[in-house]
Amino acid sequence: MLDTIPDIELLIELVDMEDLRCGDVNHPRGISFHTAEASAEFLIVAPCCGDRGLLCRTRSYYLKYQAATIHCMRCDARWAPDRYQFIPLPGVLPI
Ligand SMILES: [Zn+2]
Ligand SMILES: [Zn+2]
Repeated sequence: MLDTIPDIELLIELVDMEDLRCGDVNHPRGISFHTAEASAEFLIVAPCCGDRGLLCRTRSYYLKYQAATIHCMRCDARWAPDRYQFIPLPGVLPI
């Protein structure tokens, strides 16, 4: 987890937090209650290659507590959700 903290600090310097949108924009509504307009609240980090994405709260909650596995697109691998890190962005309550 320590490796990702500088990334968050860098992110804050580069981007106005209010401009951050959920990266999972193509995920269909309904399955996870994800809405494409929602702001990103969590940085999730894959255990394999460290691939990361910004996701809204509802999508993060779904992946962490309800999904059987999470798919790393880059490695085409599937991992149990507890292998992933869910890092709340500053000012965001953990899930
Ligand atoms: Zn990967
Ligand atoms: Zn979302």
